[in-house]
Amino acid sequence: MRNILVTGGLGFIGSCFVIDQINKGNKVVNLDKITYAANLENDILVRNNPNYHFVKGDIADYALVLSLLEKFNIDNIVNFAAESHVDNSIKAAEVFITTNINGTFYLLEAARKYYDILSEEKKSQFRFLHVSTDEVYGSLKEGEAAFTENNPYRPNSPYSASKAASDHLVRAWGETYKLPTIITNCSNNFGPRQHFEKFIPTVILSALKGKEIPVYGNGKNIRDWIYVQDHCHGIDLALHKGQIGQTYCFGGECEMRNIDLAEKLCEILDQIKPRSDGISYKTQIKYVNDRAGHDYRYAINNGKAKEQLGYNIAKKDRFKETVEFYLE
Ligand code: NAD
Repeated sequence: MRNILVTGGLGFIGSCFVIDQINKGNKVVNLDKITYAANLENDILVRNNPNYHFVKGDIADYALVLSLLEKFNIDNIVNFAAESHVDNSIKAAEVFITTNINGTFYLLEAARKYYDILSEEKKSQFRFLHVSTDEVYGSLKEGEAAFTENNPYRPNSPYSASKAASDHLVRAWGETYKLPTIITNCSNNFGPRQHFEKFIPTVILSALKGKEIPVYGNGKNIRDWIYVQDHCHGIDLALHKGQIGQTYCFGGECEMRNIDLAEKLCEILDQIKPRSDGISYKTQIKYVNDRAGHDYRYAINNGKAKEQLGYNIAKKDRFKETVEFYLE
């Protein structure tokens, strides 16, 4: 059993990870600031579990983080806490700097202070795993090789730039202070409990409400979609089998144009909850002004994670069950 400090565990991916880790018999302390992106229902499945402890707080609160590390005898920190929506970062970047960069800095500092006084045995178990995004690598052209861990950083949005900066801090704290850090960079997640501001819930909800389904630009931008549980499985593997100081990329091996995904979701809805007038939800799709600095394509080469961690995608094409979740 490990004692894990999960940050941002009331968010979409963090909550999936919390539930998985509790089910594995680990102890989880969930530190979440409860921003607009948190959902207080996201920990409902584990709330009464004696191995689960929720703390409302900010990763930038050095004293609070240090006290939690000491009080709960933490073995691993898994940092999900972040401002995560690109569109918001374009409208108002400051909070992205405050949380994603400054917050990660204070979290690292608290971890370093705690790590320095651990016994050698506890030190050997300790990991600081930082959850990041493939968006730090910038944008790919059609036919260009998928991102690997060796791609240069070329972030294009305030969001991806703030995540890139946080990755650099984590790397530097590993190199300079010998904090045992691991970074993971993942493609676009989907699945249950995602905030409604993100693409897939927006498509489903707009369709069901009879509203226009907004698709940016000409809809041709390509994303690689990974089911959230596959991502959490990858993080778990990186935590247990990953080498200190290494980066691991995780993708869903599911590249799709945004318009194709929107149409696919409409087709699923047409089957399981058809409109009363019998017309396809696809007729609600509307192209809207493109996002500023919109990256054209993301894709991930899973080679390193497969080879070194034994990472694999459990089951392809989980869009139908995702739609069913939002219908419920
Ligand atoms: P999310 O926006 O759904 O959840 C973020 C959570 O962090 C929320 O519960 C929020 O309250 C909390 N939080 C925000 N600021 C905080 C702070 N200062 N202190 C403590 N808690 C704070 O995000 P998500 O989609 O679950 O993403 C989680 C992580 O994974 C992020 O770091 C993101 O960059 C990364 N990531 C996301 C995706 C994706 O497709 N969603 C892909 C790759 C990587």
